[in-house]
Amino acid sequence: ALTIGIVGLPNVGKSTMFNALTKNNVLAANYPFATIEPNVGVVPLPDPRLERLAEIHGSEKILPATVSFVDIAGIVRGASEGEGLGNKFLANIREADAICQVVRAFEDGDVVHVDGKVSPESDIETIHTELILADLQTLEKAVARLEKEARIKKESKPLHENALAAQKVLEEGKTLYAAGEAAGVDLAEARSLGLLTTKPFIYVFNLDEDQLTDDALKTSLAELVAPADAVFLNAKLEMDLMDMSPQDAQEMLEGFGATESGLDQLARTGFHTLGLQTYLTAGPKESRAWTIGQGWTAPQAAGVIHTDFQRGFIKAEIVSFEDLDTLGTMQKAKEAGKVRMEGKDYVMQDGDVVEFRFNV
Ligand code: GDP
Repeated sequence: ALTIGIVGLPNVGKSTMFNALTKNNVLAANYPFATIEPNVGVVPLPDPRLERLAEIHGSEKILPATVSFVDIAGIVRGASEGEGLGNKFLANIREADAICQVVRAFEDGDVVHVDGKVSPESDIETIHTELILADLQTLEKAVARLEKEARIKKESKPLHENALAAQKVLEEGKTLYAAGEAAGVDLAEARSLGLLTTKPFIYVFNLDEDQLTDDALKTSLAELVAPADAVFLNAKLEMDLMDMSPQDAQEMLEGFGATESGLDQLARTGFHTLGLQTYLTAGPKESRAWTIGQGWTAPQAAGVIHTDFQRGFIKAEIVSFEDLDTLGTMQKAKEAGKVRMEGKDYVMQDGDVVEFRFNV
């Protein structure tokens, strides 16, 4: 499953946000594959289409797509010096598909800031610097090894050059995600060397309640991290929302000019940053969303349900959610010619409602 690692300086609201996240863990009961560890929170991707599908098919259960968040503690200024970042930290962050940095913007005299002042810009830089230094340490060894290899094998030359290009970007104090591509670094190649800053970054700004409606502030913070995605929330409010009925939560959000919670936005943003989408299946047992990449073919999508589905793929019966929603039943959708049979080259579209045919 899709995993996003949460990092940030101490006292920025990580634990508060994470506690709000894990209040969702009831959901995990529906997901036997999501091993629940104390530092993992599973969040459903909100998808109103599933309720409608369940209504059409009389489904007993609704299973949304999920995003897992892993709380990765242990990053502070200077963390990469001396002993380096802890092994547990590195292992956790290597496993994450994206890095989510929680940045404090809220002012609160009672909550000490590690640097004595609240500065989103310098907090972001501090975390970047630690990750960049960790990557430079990784590269030091890799470059030496690749240099030797390149002398013996011609094929290794581009790998060596790519490592050097990555090194240059990092030495300029930039992450590979933000500046690698423009500098001609092959990011996939760099990622295979275990470089952390190749991962997509998402920034969560923890604002106080007044700041939540301050559009000028939010614009300036978004510009600070652009083109990376920014999410704005108030961690304490997110905790409160989890304890409310959906109706009360909705009213509370509207009071802040928002339509969905910060955590919902974060799940959505994770999907966006990673270039993911969902397709849907529906029946009397369950209506369910499945996570795939953009541009995936029907057999690849089938493989997410079961590898046998991919191996034995024959065809996919597909109707778009919009058509099914409008026509109201599968029967009517068929009569209207909206249910298509697609073969193995079909490229999946977001919101396809699918039934796979396969050999076992
Ligand atoms: P962490 O060290 O990053 O995990 O930070 P915590 O979640 O433990 O938060 C540190 C302190 O800041 C706690 O006392 C929280 O109650 C407080 N805090 C967290 N989020 C907010 C917020 O949005 N506004 C205010 N005023 N305080 C917050």
